[in-house]
Order: sequence, then structure tokens, then C-alpha cells
Amino acid sequence: MNFRATVLTLYPEMFPGPLGVSLAGRALSEGKWSLETVQIRDFATDRHRTVDDTPAGGGAGMVMRADVLARAIDHASPADDVRPRLLMSPRGLPLTQRRVRQLAGGQGVIIVCGRFEGVDQRVIEARGLEEVSVGDYILSGGEPAALVLLDAVVRLLPGVMGNEMSGEEESFEKGLLEHPHYTRPPEWEGRPIPEVLLSGNHAKIAAWRRGEAERLTAARRPDLLEDRDQPFEK
Ligand code: SAH
Repeated sequence: MNFRATVLTLYPEMFPGPLGVSLAGRALSEGKWSLETVQIRDFATDRHRTVDDTPAGGGAGMVMRADVLARAIDHASPADDVRPRLLMSPRGLPLTQRRVRQLAGGQGVIIVCGRFEGVDQRVIEARGLEEVSVGDYILSGGEPAALVLLDAVVRLLPGVMGNEMSGEEESFEKGLLEHPHYTRPPEWEGRPIPEVLLSGNHAKIAAWRRGEAERLTAARRPDLLEDRDQPFEK
């Protein structure tokens, strides 16, 4: 098994969920990656199997306990585990295609899914958790974020994406949003396909797509153009 994902969660029944169907699901059943869940609650020690407590300093909500979470992490990922330990967190660096590619080139990931107000800061530091965000909005838990991250990574694993999709040509891979797509019929509700795409002139088609990609990127995501001086892939 090349790529091993281990997800620490209070809701293991959310997995594989959408990752059990289509591209990722086929790859999972073909053994191209593996998915293991760890129930964090199994590492609580009291009678009520408590995983959270009130925030130090007061305030609303509950915080996941460092000791319980650390026991779960140590069980799932011994000290010699080379896989990065991620914590899904709105405070993390936003996930990018570059980081997704790096992760897909590694041996797997440990993913901690937060709940409540989040996790005790001390376990983040003591276990070297890398906080990763999937966007500037708040989810009720880290599980949907973990599903997003794994979906993006798994499709890049060797042998997962067939010819049905081209990983190289997509949005972000060249630091640009992708050009628009068209397919048959040639005219639909009075809207024709741009003529150049039917011309058979591959150089012209490539130039048109490139121009559309640049135009869309400048209009919607000028921040991507500013980043383009740095090499996108690593
Ligand atoms: N009080 C926190 C939000 C907690 S949301 C704050 O204001 O920052 C509960 C859990 O959902 C988090 O611990 C995290 O694991 C997950 N989560 C919420 N939004 C997320 C996002 N945008 N990206 C990744 N994980 C997120």
C-alpha cells in the first residue's frame, strides 16, 4: 500500500462517505490507497468517555482535551511514522493544489478532525500538527474538510485518474483558472460553440484557450497572477 490515510474523528461513520464512490471509491477498493479511522473517544479514560471540557479563561463552547487527543495520535502515528500530521482548522494555511500535490507524492497523511471550539493548543504544539484550512468559512467539524483534502489528493495518486481527466490542464496547475469547455451539439438554444474550437487548428485553439484562461484569471482571481513568478509545482 503506497498511500495510507488515517483519520482521527468523533464521527468515523462519516468515512469513507463520498470517498467510497466514483474515482476515489474505485481506487480504494483496488487498494491504490487505504483509509483507516480512529475513534478519538476510545482514548478517553473516564466512565463517561469525555473528550472535551470547558475553555480555560471562560467563554462559550467546549475544547477538545490535549491528553485524550494525544493518546489517539500516539496510537495512530508512532514516533517513526513519516506521514505528516494534519489538523483541519480554519486557522491553518489555506489548502492549495501545490500542497495537495506534495501530499500525493508522500506515503500518506494523519488527519485530526476538530469539533466544538477546536482543540487544546498544547497538543497542536506537542505533536507537531500542521493546521490546514479549506477556506475562509466555519464548518461544524473537521470531517468535511478532511473529505475535501483526501478527495483532492487521491485523484492525483498513480493510476487513479484515467484518461477521463487530465491532471495537467486543470485550474491552478499552471497558476491560472481553466478555460471554458464546450461539447456537442454545435449550437444549443441559439448559442454556437466558439468557431476556433471547430477549426481543427491546434495552435490557434491552444492560443484561444490560453487567452481565455488569462482573461478569467485576471477578472476573478488576480491574486493567482501575482503568485505566478514562483514555480507552482514542487
Ligand atoms: N472556534 C473555531 C472554529 C471551530 S469549528 C474558530 O473560530 O476558529 C470546529 C472544527 O471544525 C475545527 O476545530 C476544525 O477542525 C473544523 N473546521 C471548521 N472550519 C474549517 C475550515 N474552514 N477548514 C478546516 N477545518 C475547519
